[in-house]
Amino acid sequence: MTENRKVALVTGASRGIGRACALSLAKAGCDVIVNYAGNEAKANETVEQIKALGVNAEAVRFDVSSKAEVDSAVAEIISKHERIDILVNNAGITKDGLFIRMSEEAWDAVLNTNLKGAYNVTNAVSKIMIKQRTGAIVNMASIAGVMGNAGQANYSAAKAGLIGFTKSLAKELGSRNIRVNAVAPGFVNTDMTKDLDITKIVEHIPLRRAAEPEEVASVVKFLALDANYVTGQVIGVDGGLVI
Ligand code: NAP
Repeated sequence: MTENRKVALVTGASRGIGRACALSLAKAGCDVIVNYAGNEAKANETVEQIKALGVNAEAVRFDVSSKAEVDSAVAEIISKHERIDILVNNAGITKDGLFIRMSEEAWDAVLNTNLKGAYNVTNAVSKIMIKQRTGAIVNMASIAGVMGNAGQANYSAAKAGLIGFTKSLAKELGSRNIRVNAVAPGFVNTDMTKDLDITKIVEHIPLRRAAEPEEVASVVKFLALDANYVTGQVIGVDGGLVI
């Protein structure tokens, strides 16, 4: 990575919203570390797209839900690059089903990835940000964490947890010049939503359509790089679905 360029770590950046965030930060001149869980080919594609923009990128595999994997990967990133300026806690999964039929496995998997994953990565990265006396963290919440969603008790709980986490951390880390914000997307066209029929839902979205990943990424980039006096906020990127 190059001196005087900001270093950004984006979790779950092999595809979807995470890839769009990585590209958006790269376009703004950041060097980007592209985390992924298993999809190496997609992660490498993201890296190539970023390098084509003239900044540095590398793919780093770790499972955000494993504290041991996160700790060793983040330690390696820090020993190599000496800093992390921006963290986007984006990695996430769904395992939907009505609560009455929701298995413990489905509950644990979603909470461990979407909420504990953010704890694991932030725990490792905030230490270097505190030393640097600067940093910006953006957490990928969801409207499900704001308004709930039938069939997503696990996911909604994780995303609501992320919102509380965001606000608490903003209060704790503000004095170290570290800002912590969240975005709460509505429906975004990615692999996660490709099998959902949102025809009925779209009728309730004032903008009458789902978002593209880049439309979420532009808000993430704003929070990470431009919004110097904004912390502890949850910005809806939902076409007006939650008003
Ligand atoms: P996606 O297309 O399914 O991509 C998920 C990304 O997360 C992939 O890069 C995947 O890596 C990575 N990932 C999954 N589990 C991981 C783990 N344990 N460790 C590290 N990386 C992991 O999903 P998306 O729609 O872009 O969603 C991204 C985030 O936005 C999620 O937090 C999601 O909850 C949130 N969100 C999405 C929507 C929507 O409508 N799509 C709406 C609101 C919020 P691999 O490619 O290696 O599997």
